[in-house]
Amino acid sequence: MHDAAVVGGGPAGTIAAGLLARDHDVVVLEEHAVSGLPVQCAGLLTKDAVDMCGVTPDILNRIAGADVIFPGGGRFEARFDNTKVMLVDRADLDGKLAEKAIDNGAEIRYGVKCSGIRLSENGASAVTNCGEISSRLIIGADGHSSVVAASLGGNPPKEYIYGIGADVRHRPEHDDVMVLRVGSEFAPGFFSWEIPYGDMVRVGLCIKGRTGSTPSDHLKKLMKASGINGGDVVSKYSGKIPLGGRPKTFGERTLLIGDAAGQVKPVSGGGLYPINKAAPILAETARESLCENDLSSKNLSKYEKRWKKEIGKELSRGYRIRKMYTNLSDKDLDKIFRIIDRDDMRSVLGRIDLDRPSSVAFPMLRNPGVGIRFLPIIMRAVI
Ligand SMILES: Cc1cc2nc3c(=O)[nH]c(=O)nc-3n(C[C@H](O)[C@H](O)[C@H](O)COP(=O)(O)OP(=O)(O)OC[C@H]3O[C@@H](n4cnc5c(N)ncnc54)[C@H](O)[C@@H]3O)c2cc1C
Repeated sequence: MHDAAVVGGGPAGTIAAGLLARDHDVVVLEEHAVSGLPVQCAGLLTKDAVDMCGVTPDILNRIAGADVIFPGGGRFEARFDNTKVMLVDRADLDGKLAEKAIDNGAEIRYGVKCSGIRLSENGASAVTNCGEISSRLIIGADGHSSVVAASLGGNPPKEYIYGIGADVRHRPEHDDVMVLRVGSEFAPGFFSWEIPYGDMVRVGLCIKGRTGSTPSDHLKKLMKASGINGGDVVSKYSGKIPLGGRPKTFGERTLLIGDAAGQVKPVSGGGLYPINKAAPILAETARESLCENDLSSKNLSKYEKRWKKEIGKELSRGYRIRKMYTNLSDKDLDKIFRIIDRDDMRSVLGRIDLDRPSSVAFPMLRNPGVGIRFLPIIMRAVI
């Protein structure tokens, strides 16, 4: 019997497995033939998130700014330090994380799909296409539609958003400035992105559920508006992102991490930063509980307390900002553009930490010329 079976060989699974495998017997079960494919990610990461991964992925570009385009056509140009935000090759990153986990002693079994979890008094089994795999602890790192999270019963995330993206041969306007669009035409309930790298642009968007149109409809509109030819698409991907967290991220002999736990930044949809924050906490809790031989739900509940202490506040603040954002009409967004289109706001937003976006909300609202004008819009969005 293994000490831990990790379901899912994406970044959450391999980072957690790599940390725990230093002193425990850990097996990772991944349904695909390799880690990292198919890609379901734009690959936009902060330097902090990349550094925390502890591997060096291929960097496709360093990003020095964002032009945010509002529904009425207003363009807000924010510029930031180009060493802090990068576009990485996600397949390469995931592959390197898997190699690191193996170097640390984890075993990764590819082509193994888990369909459920069976608990017994002495252990747990992952039920798979290759038979039952027994372990003392199950770690659910199986992404947005986690079978392990479902095994805890009635445990959906607050919300899913639906994303689509494509890499297209297209000469961008700027070499290192991305374009983000807000509003109902291109990305209702979220935003779209056009991120340059060399002679290519990574274009994509997410939409909230039940808008009456599909991500693909919006991608066609977006490519038309930005002069991108559909015939030059080199690769395409799609996926969904769980937002707002899951009610429970632990259970009897079970811990959840990453998308499976709903640990995603609600404002940007980024999952890599929260994974890197949660993984050492998960490994520490698993290590303690395995040594104490107490894998009860009660004992494992300390994982949730600990990761929430570290990133829970930022994730819940981010979700509150998101709820307000989704209540804004296109007209409200254009009003916001008129309020923030000033040099002092450009400099505040240029200092944004994309891993903690709520940190700029207060400096913005405290600005005497800005906060008071935001009030009616915010009131409408929260009521
Ligand atoms: C369109 C889009 C754009 C995004 N852009 C960004 C971005 O720019 N920056 C960022 O930080 N994040 C981004 N994200 C989010 C990010 O991709 C995820 O948060 C991250 O991949 C979560 O990692 P994970 O390991 O938890 O899950 P995943 O990466 O989904 O890995 C889960 C793994 O488990 C495997 N698996 C699933 N079910 C089973 C099963 N039953 N049995 C065995 N194996 C299984 C899957 O094959 C997969 O390999 C984006 C997401 C989408 C959809």
